[in-house]
Amino acid sequence: GLFLDRIEARNPTLNAFITIDREGALAAASAADARIARGEAGPLTGIPLAHKDVFCTEGVLTTCGSKMLSNFVSPYDAHVVSLLKNAGAVSLGKTNMDEFAMGSSNENSHFGPARNPWNPGHVPGGSSGGSAAAVAARLVPIATGTDTGGSVRQPAAFTGVTGIKPTYGTVSRYGMIAYASSLDQGGAFGASAEDCALLLSAMTGFDARDSTSLDRPAENYADALVPASSDKPLAGLRIGLPREFFADGMSDEVRAAIDAAIEQYRALGATTVEVSLPNAKLAIPAYYVIAPAEASSNLSRFDGVRFGHRAAEYGDLNDMYCKSRAEGFGAEVKRRILVGTYVLSHGYYDAYYLQAQKLRRLIAEDFRKALSECDVIAGPTSPTTAWALGAMGDDPVQMYLADIYTIAVNLAGLPGLSHPCGFGAGSLPVGMQLIGNYFAEGKLLATAHQYQ
Ligand code: GLN
Repeated sequence: GLFLDRIEARNPTLNAFITIDREGALAAASAADARIARGEAGPLTGIPLAHKDVFCTEGVLTTCGSKMLSNFVSPYDAHVVSLLKNAGAVSLGKTNMDEFAMGSSNENSHFGPARNPWNPGHVPGGSSGGSAAAVAARLVPIATGTDTGGSVRQPAAFTGVTGIKPTYGTVSRYGMIAYASSLDQGGAFGASAEDCALLLSAMTGFDARDSTSLDRPAENYADALVPASSDKPLAGLRIGLPREFFADGMSDEVRAAIDAAIEQYRALGATTVEVSLPNAKLAIPAYYVIAPAEASSNLSRFDGVRFGHRAAEYGDLNDMYCKSRAEGFGAEVKRRILVGTYVLSHGYYDAYYLQAQKLRRLIAEDFRKALSECDVIAGPTSPTTAWALGAMGDDPVQMYLADIYTIAVNLAGLPGLSHPCGFGAGSLPVGMQLIGNYFAEGKLLATAHQYQ
């Protein structure tokens, strides 16, 4: 009730939620109370949370931030949603996002942009901007998100919360509306590494309905969060600082906060070593070929026949497809579908898609080498703090370039975390990114936990 009232008071300003599910939440809360009374509670029983509107929720509107799905009520729950329901968590609603998770600012949402709680004139980041804004404004303690090219880590950085994207294959993609399937991965937002650990532990696990789900023993990430045993709890930890991340590109205010955070890590006992990711700069061109290619294929299912928006008037079947898609998709989604169709077309496939796949391999190889010289890699999550609404204007490429530090991690399939590390001008938060080897989620969370 307390959180719901807070959402209703603050959401008109923040636009963090697309759907507020008061009724469903109150029913789930009393079921959780009963479970607690029976002594059957788990760590998340009765804990309020919100789901990014990319996750299908049975009986509750699932829009993916699009006009195309503005009336879509899913007949089933995403795997993540049912895991969290079974854990007793109480979903308060669905959070705002860039349409089909395409964007870095939430300005591509059909439902209008979510706002940054630190300054509502600024964006909360994207695409999971609603979840990040909701946690930052304490409308919910934890929230789910997805990260295809930084969409958990970058909004976490922009809103001063912690966000983690695990190793590809850790969180089931079943019922998570697909953007770029080889990159999409569910993730967790919380006010601290500890909260993220509790949420992520409940979200992971093998699911036969996702062909890339990894069959590994369940991990409780909270177990790795030991209390500091000395004033040097990170003694022995080698932090790799990629030379390329610290060359040009970072704004002065981000650099100052990142440098101070690295000093703090040294004070906690960690040592630093310079590493190199020579192909990291190629991540943006590779990603903006691969992601649209996969998106153009995934979004072909929105044809106005089975679900989603259908034009009111049309001639033949082809005209119905064309009009429904023309009306249902926003400008950025159309741009990606066009780019994706182009790079996959005969004659261009080798020149673009195949080249991008080769770059992907080189980028993964860079990380393999760098992570053989250190335990975790650290650097900024984003080159700047949250920009003002509208500041990117009509230049999509300018926004793509802002993903420079995050998307290489998705191309390699590695886990990445962003934790708050101070503020830039105008009290806008700065995020520190930690990148680990495959399945090093626990290490990333434990490292951030000592910092916090
Ligand atoms: N900003 C990136 C994009 O627009 C990443 C989005 C994401 O991770 N979902 O594709």
